[in-house]
Amino acid sequence: MPRMDTHDLTLVAGGGGFIGGHLIGELRKRGHTRIRAVDVKPLDQWYQVYPDADNRTLDLQDLASCRAAARDARYIFNLAADMGGMGFIELHKAECMLSVLINTHLLIAARDAHAERFFFSSSACVYAAEKQTSAAVVPLREPDAYPAMPEDGYGWEKLFSERMCRHFSEDFGLLTRVARYHNVYGPHGTYDGGREKAPAAVCRKVIQAQLSKSNEIEIWGDGEQTRSFTFIDDCIDGTLRLMESDVTEPLNIGSDQLVTINQLVDIVERIAGVSLTRRYKVDAPKGVRGRNSDNRLIQQRLGWAPSIRLEDGMRHTYGWIRAQMEAGSRRQQAFA
Ligand code: NAD
Repeated sequence: MPRMDTHDLTLVAGGGGFIGGHLIGELRKRGHTRIRAVDVKPLDQWYQVYPDADNRTLDLQDLASCRAAARDARYIFNLAADMGGMGFIELHKAECMLSVLINTHLLIAARDAHAERFFFSSSACVYAAEKQTSAAVVPLREPDAYPAMPEDGYGWEKLFSERMCRHFSEDFGLLTRVARYHNVYGPHGTYDGGREKAPAAVCRKVIQAQLSKSNEIEIWGDGEQTRSFTFIDDCIDGTLRLMESDVTEPLNIGSDQLVTINQLVDIVERIAGVSLTRRYKVDAPKGVRGRNSDNRLIQQRLGWAPSIRLEDGMRHTYGWIRAQMEAGSRRQQAFA
């Protein structure tokens, strides 16, 4: 499979979001000169805006908007979805499932616009719940998505949309690539408001405890649930490697450095130089008990796997969130 041509139009759907914003940054670094970024949010709410891109606000649940977005595009990355962390997806299942309209309409638009390659951002939430009941997990291999029993709502939408990609390839010749992301984190993403995920939430809570001098942190569940977390630079690197590969089946893009949520808090406390009293909210949304990524297939197919250490990625993430929160509290004081 040849590399993407840097002079051809690339559409990044969800360009105002966390991963979409970083992807556009990397495409520009690699010399891509024609990038169209589309998001449903108004431009002033995008995490990152690149003035030299063709930035548009469109609702991609709508087919006509997808056709406008896909016009003349050779490469399409679909990173648009109505989603968030566990606190969001457990309580907004219908909204998560409505993202099926985005991927379906974007695939139709891509086919009709004769796009060459289409990338879909799937999730580790497609994996069968029964394989994730213990904190001492067996890492998830790609075939573990079947027999299907994914995360209710969000995971079912992702699994269905994966299949749709596969059948658009088989029936219409559109080249599709599917990544199953495992908990991606980093700067320029959400850290409050209810859609944030554990790494950003833990950073925010530690910073709040420091700024308010409360010295306490609330942890969802008993803190012994396990996860792996993928730094954004690995996610973007893997996404572009997959897009430029000949791999037609879904691949995990996820770190395999397994930690408990308590260990994640330990890491952030060390970065911040504090030790907080932990309060456990056992009835909070927690998701599956344990989940890790098995990276043998991606190693075998791409000769690569995520490698950035959690401690290093969290240091960047903490620094960025702390700067945002300090700037926010300075603004509040100025208006008080
Ligand atoms: P994000 O919420 O930051 O970005 C998604 C973007 O999609 C948002 O900016 C949102 O406004 C936009 N969007 C939502 N509905 C839209 C619509 N109707 N039309 C146009 N744009 C719309 O999330 P993210 O973390 O950047 O995730 C990107 C993709 O990766 C999503 O498909 C997500 O499900 C998937 N994913 C992310 C993670 C993770 O840990 N961040 C893990 C697994 C999968």
